[in-house]
Amino acid sequence: MEEKIKAFMDEVKTRNGHEPEFIQAVQEVAETVIPYIAKHKIYNGKNILLRMVEPERLLSFRVAWVDDNGEIHVNRGYRIQMNSAIGPYKGGLRFHPSVNASILKFLAFEQVFKNSLTTLPMGGGKGGSDFDPKGKSDDEVMRFCHAFMLELSRHIGPNTDVPAGDIGVGAREIGFLFGMYKKIKNEFTGVLTGKGRSWGGSLIRPEATGYGTVYFAQSMLKTKDIDFSSKNVVISGSGNVAQYAAEKVLQLGGKVLTLSDSQGFIYDKEGINADKLAYVMDLKNNQRGRISEYIKKYPSTQYFKGEKPWNIACDIALPCATQNELNGNDAKILIKNGCLCVAEGANMPSTPEAIHEFHLAKILFAPGKASNAGGVATSGLEMSQNSLRISWTREEVDERLKAIMEDIHNSCIEFGKEEDGFCNYVKGANIAGFVKVADAMLAQGVI
Ligand code: GLU
Repeated sequence: MEEKIKAFMDEVKTRNGHEPEFIQAVQEVAETVIPYIAKHKIYNGKNILLRMVEPERLLSFRVAWVDDNGEIHVNRGYRIQMNSAIGPYKGGLRFHPSVNASILKFLAFEQVFKNSLTTLPMGGGKGGSDFDPKGKSDDEVMRFCHAFMLELSRHIGPNTDVPAGDIGVGAREIGFLFGMYKKIKNEFTGVLTGKGRSWGGSLIRPEATGYGTVYFAQSMLKTKDIDFSSKNVVISGSGNVAQYAAEKVLQLGGKVLTLSDSQGFIYDKEGINADKLAYVMDLKNNQRGRISEYIKKYPSTQYFKGEKPWNIACDIALPCATQNELNGNDAKILIKNGCLCVAEGANMPSTPEAIHEFHLAKILFAPGKASNAGGVATSGLEMSQNSLRISWTREEVDERLKAIMEDIHNSCIEFGKEEDGFCNYVKGANIAGFVKVADAMLAQGVI
């Protein structure tokens, strides 16, 4: 088996040798899915995984725009249309200086499995740009988004490819992108999700990724008869996912000790309560400030510049910032300090070494493609509402989100439970996600 996996990965590396994040994401899937393929005849000899690692289409384009001083800038735009076997391409847009083909291919690849897990008919895609919205004026962000959509609009559509937000793309950016799409096509359709409430957006979509991550963690804890009440929770990030994960933890009676951004983390040993969280939401979403400002407002708390929050003792850790933010050493520290559950709110925040440590210690560990699927699942619900031209209540959407997260948890158990009763959620998510897409690919033939 080892040899089969190695031979497969050698082929992937030959073609994508310069794309480390993509290779990391594929390796994790190959290790769990290739043994499954070997045991299930219908997938033998069909090279399904090899077909799945090759994007159906990879678009890269120039985005030229003019800043407030009249200077012309050039960024690179991308859309990776990874797999459409079970539905139109679906996945976010990321605007961040680190964006490149490797990062977007890893995200698009994970998205295929994640979207399949939601049980909704959505294929996988991802896109974005190396444009950095930080420090730009609203007008500059608008001009960039309009220029970006001028090209992207040729390749997307409500039945073809439905982008959404991700890091650096929130309600403001989705508004500008939607406005330009509508103008070019002269049609009002659900071509993007994460839209504003008054123009086709779904209730709960902003909260969904964070809430879903906590719902998933709740299901995992339930298998051990544990809940969130009075648990110490360490959260990284302070964007959309982290904010709403924190909100849900508070609603369930847990204590949130940390939040972070790319420059450092804040530690509030009294707990970040609802008032303090409201301050953080205003700071990040309206003032677009840094998390370090928290200690000016709440002087009895601490700020650790350039550090990650993983050495703060906790029961539950929710990495909600970005890829590879939690390494093997961080995992060892978390385990040593008594952490019993890690649920990823971000995409691939734990390195392979960290996952290895979590599995060795047999603690509850959920990979992002399972635990953060609530965001895209609610995007799927937004698409349904748009197609039906109706809008569900907050309670209706939240109930559906809860049911979907529960379903994903059950699928992980079905495919990931090992002989000793331990659930390997990585294996469970990969295989459950694979089966649905692979079966559709088999049915549709070699295309
Ligand atoms: N960017 C989110 C994710 O990683 C959401 C994508 C979407 O709603 O299409 O799943």
